[in-house]
Amino acid sequence: GLDDTRLAFPIMLAAHIVVRPIRSYFETLRERANYDQLTGVLNRDAGRTIAKMEVEKYAENDIPLAILMADIDHFKKVNDTYGHPAGDEVLKKFAQVAGSALRRCDLLCRWGGEEFLILLRGTLQDEAIQIADRIRRRVESIIFPPYEKCGLLTVSIGSASLPPGKLFDQLAAEADRALYRAKHEGRNRIATLPAG
Ligand code: GH3
Ligand code: MG
Ligand code: MG
Repeated sequence: GLDDTRLAFPIMLAAHIVVRPIRSYFETLRERANYDQLTGVLNRDAGRTIAKMEVEKYAENDIPLAILMADIDHFKKVNDTYGHPAGDEVLKKFAQVAGSALRRCDLLCRWGGEEFLILLRGTLQDEAIQIADRIRRRVESIIFPPYEKCGLLTVSIGSASLPPGKLFDQLAAEADRALYRAKHEGRNRIATLPAG
């Protein structure tokens, strides 16, 4: 007969050798599915899924929540002047700097290109504007590598907050319109839409 105790170790070792790469493969897949590969923040799909659930939950329970839509100013010029790889470095740094201005409960997501969506849980519009302005000031004060010679990078941010009954898509669209307004009013600023 076979000695069970003598087999236990080789079986465990074989399982370990087989299972570990499979597990790490699935972890990589999950990582790729949820995070933006360049900046390391949540990607649009994952961000949207979470934000949608959160907005509905917060609206239902009458808890404040705000969304910021942030877009780097004249980013095309960075690429045109310093090249696409330098543009990528600026995007990475931007995500770090924006993240550093947020709280643990906030969510930062790359919405696409040089545009980022930020979800601020339990946050009224006034506080959202303060947080947005903290991001704006940090971005303005940091010298990004390719900007050493030509000046500073700036960001425009639109803010929208949750009155009860709103859906994520409406809130995101409102933040987007506010962002457009910030661009129109001269960039490097925060804008909201007038009430009503
Ligand atoms: P505005 O102030 O109006 O926002 O001007 P802008 O130049 O920032 O906006 P525009 O939409 O004209 O240009 C965005 C640029 O972002 C164009 C596109 O090539 C660049 N971009 C988008 N994704 C990436 C990326 O992953 N890496 C790099 N390097 N550039 C990107
Ligand atoms: Mg831009
Ligand atoms: Mg843009």
